[in-house]
Amino acid sequence: MMNFDFTPEQEILRSTVRKFVDKEIMPYIKEWDERGYFDPNIMKRLAELNLMGVCIPEEYGGAGMDYNSLAIVCEELERGDTAFRTAVSVHIGLNSLTLLQWGTEEQKQKYLVPQAKGEKIGAFGLTEPGAGSDVAAISTTAVRDGDYYILNGQKTWISLCDIADHFIVFAYTDKSKKHHGISAFIVERTMPGFSSKAIKGKLGIRAGNTGELFFDNVRVPKENLLGHEGEGFKIAMSALDNGRFTVAAGAVGLIMACLEASVKYCHERKTFGKEIGRHQLVQQMIANMEAGLQISRLLVYKAGYLKNQGKRNTRETSLAKWIACDFANKAADDAVQIHGAYGYSNEYPVERYLRNSKAPVIYEGTREIHTIMQAEYVLGYRKDKPLRKMLPAWNPESVKL
Ligand SMILES: Cc1cc2nc3c(=O)[nH]c(=O)nc-3n(C[C@H](O)[C@H](O)[C@H](O)COP(=O)(O)OP(=O)(O)OC[C@H]3O[C@@H](n4cnc5c(N)ncnc54)[C@H](O)[C@@H]3O)c2cc1C
Repeated sequence: MMNFDFTPEQEILRSTVRKFVDKEIMPYIKEWDERGYFDPNIMKRLAELNLMGVCIPEEYGGAGMDYNSLAIVCEELERGDTAFRTAVSVHIGLNSLTLLQWGTEEQKQKYLVPQAKGEKIGAFGLTEPGAGSDVAAISTTAVRDGDYYILNGQKTWISLCDIADHFIVFAYTDKSKKHHGISAFIVERTMPGFSSKAIKGKLGIRAGNTGELFFDNVRVPKENLLGHEGEGFKIAMSALDNGRFTVAAGAVGLIMACLEASVKYCHERKTFGKEIGRHQLVQQMIANMEAGLQISRLLVYKAGYLKNQGKRNTRETSLAKWIACDFANKAADDAVQIHGAYGYSNEYPVERYLRNSKAPVIYEGTREIHTIMQAEYVLGYRKDKPLRKMLPAWNPESVKL
């Protein structure tokens, strides 16, 4: 049976996050964006609302809500600003859900529980100066030395680089095995030899923190190997299934923000004796935004539905991420167009939406990578098998908010 209704808990969740965004992000975001300031208090406040582990089971410190509830949080946060949705994407989507899926019980207790409670922040280090889409081109290494692995290398474009306490980091344990020689590690900021540095001069997500990680003989205990040696590539790709889901949901929120601003302006601005909303070419842009919103939302919730069932959803999530981010990028472009010259200044928020809408078309699989993935699925060149460890299905017994 198909059901398009939100549960009462999901309705409450949406209105809680919306109120939070309206009160604690909207009044300040213009200034934060101009200053390039990431406010860590937002993460603390999200933790107080029990949202830093919204879809993590209660037994691991979370709220136990379903995966589409995570989507709702991301939609509403990105309606405020992409920076905070990005923070939740890496903390929950790329890190905490990966610990839930692949971690040992000890790793979950040590790292997932404090992250789900928002006491510690998680991030994800895959990209390197010489390796983005081509993950196997990474050059960070992890060499076994007794009870430790010694990590050396560099990551770049890492969200929350200066903020996070824990990082899931990918490194070669055996370069000769290519994809099968990559392993995943849990690295703590406090481990000697670790350092980070923010990147300045970004086009968008300026109220977010993004930058480099450096590993200079970082001794990581062998207990911090996530999954088996050589399983890192699979772990990275399964993490992206969850990260991409949150990015797609965030894009829905950005389209909502573009529509809100544009509809308001359409009623305010008059040309040729009528509201600009009465001009058919402006209506075309509004209609395209609405179509993008509805199509993207359906794709996101379908992927969330599959996650709730514990089924593989790489194909559906990739499609949702690609389509939603492209629609959001176009919606932001049109929102600026609708505002005319005023859209070109930061007197209105739409120029920020346009700048922010670009990174999600690049990160967590570029537009081109998702296009290729979709073609390969249709042509039968790509098929998914169940993983050794799947993301646990949602347990409806465990809701606590
Ligand atoms: C704001 C921001 C935050 C980020 N946060 C993180 C993070 O937290 N953790 C993390 O690990 N990474 C993060 N990234 C990095 C991001 O995931 C990479 O930038 C992305 O994977 C693309 O890699 P690249 O930039 O090296 O581009 P490249 O892979 O070098 O691609 C360059 C161009 O070539 C195209 N291209 C590449 N290969 C192909 C192909 N086979 N066919 C067709 N076209 C191709 C791409 O689509 C793109 O247009 C972030 C990036 C940004 C901008």
